[in-house]
Amino acid sequence: MLRDYNKKRNFNKTKEPIGKKSKKHKTLRFCIQHHIARKDHYDFRLEWNGVLKSFAIPKGPSYNPKDKRLAIMVEDHPLDYANFEGIIPKGEYGGGTVMLWDYGKWKPIKNTEPDFKNGPIKFEIMGKRIKGLWTLVKIEEDNWLLIKDIDEYHLYNNINKFNTSIKTGRTMAEIADISTSINLTNPDKIIFDNPKITKEEIFNYYKVVASRMIPLIKDRLISTVRAPGGIKNGTFYKKHMENIDGYLGCKKIKGEDYYYIKDTLGILSEVQMNSYEFHIWGSIVDDLNHPDILVFDLDPDEHLSLAKLRMGVKDLKKILDEYNLKSYLKTSGGKGYHIIVPIAGITWREARMISKNIAKLMSAKWPEKYTSNIKKNKRKGKMFIDWQRNIKGSTSVAPYSLRLKDKPRVSMPIKWSELDKVKPDDITMSEAIKRLKNKNPWEDLFS
Ligand code: MN
Repeated sequence: MLRDYNKKRNFNKTKEPIGKKSKKHKTLRFCIQHHIARKDHYDFRLEWNGVLKSFAIPKGPSYNPKDKRLAIMVEDHPLDYANFEGIIPKGEYGGGTVMLWDYGKWKPIKNTEPDFKNGPIKFEIMGKRIKGLWTLVKIEEDNWLLIKDIDEYHLYNNINKFNTSIKTGRTMAEIADISTSINLTNPDKIIFDNPKITKEEIFNYYKVVASRMIPLIKDRLISTVRAPGGIKNGTFYKKHMENIDGYLGCKKIKGEDYYYIKDTLGILSEVQMNSYEFHIWGSIVDDLNHPDILVFDLDPDEHLSLAKLRMGVKDLKKILDEYNLKSYLKTSGGKGYHIIVPIAGITWREARMISKNIAKLMSAKWPEKYTSNIKKNKRKGKMFIDWQRNIKGSTSVAPYSLRLKDKPRVSMPIKWSELDKVKPDDITMSEAIKRLKNKNPWEDLFS
């Protein structure tokens, strides 16, 4: 039944395969394609009778048996479609980017004849990322549910973390050949005046650092700082989703739409919308209540010297080392340094307690140097160890983010041994790009 498939497509324009029915095979293929079109979704296809029976799954499959994922039956696709990865031109049916996300074999349970008219269909999948027993249940018309059965695979991690092609290893951005697909408007717009930096230069910067930046910011709710008329015309924060263009993820919290970046296209689409500075949450979107990083922001008061600031950073590291907490350093791109501590299995309440106790320990150990007292008049020339950052919903500037301050500087991950050499506002975009050739100082952050 490939008539609908062929009718919807103009094969002079799209590179998708022309629909021809194949002969029946004994072993049956399946594939899942991640398809970013008008909406972001996954296409789940099962070979049957020489065609691919096809379902669009808005949220993608889930290994959690409690998740019932809506699967909308769409037109049959030709078997060759299981090899398709690439771009469907804008304006064509399904225009967007297609990634081959998984493939392999499938079979109906007990070799029963699967009923694609009425369901339910119980089957086993033997893919690289998707395995085990699954059920498709029909609700009404074209709407079905895809449900993971309980088996030895149902406790697998969140499979949405796979964001590269199973066939070519490419990200969505690489498949789309980003120098685009996102149409950068006003590339010559001046964002910084001194030195002059254009929107296009910032766009290109993020394109280059994305491979290091994405693993650290993906799936974290973000807020961004925008400067639609360049920084001299003012900046503002943006923390709510505005339009769904398929490049960003959306999370509803208490009725409000927050958003997150999934891949390079997400960052670039934000730059296109004049967001040049990125701030991230300390927890990921699938587990918002449990932070996986603590952030200590050592930002000096007016009269504190750089030497004293660095002393503070070193003293904090000493305390963290004493408690066997691994820590990572970055410049803020402004006046301070940030110390990041990966953490697991705690709540935000506990995160706040730990941070407060660390700040208290520092002020107890070196009372002449540090205070954990939030009241400004109690500080008296001492350095304030800011422990209040680690609460649910607080954000801190993302690694590799540009800062929209007077000088165009980057919040840059550096090695601990570089603390005395690199000032908080030393790293420019071109310096950051040069540094990508060095070993990633945060390589093992989440290991
Ligand atoms: Mn699709």
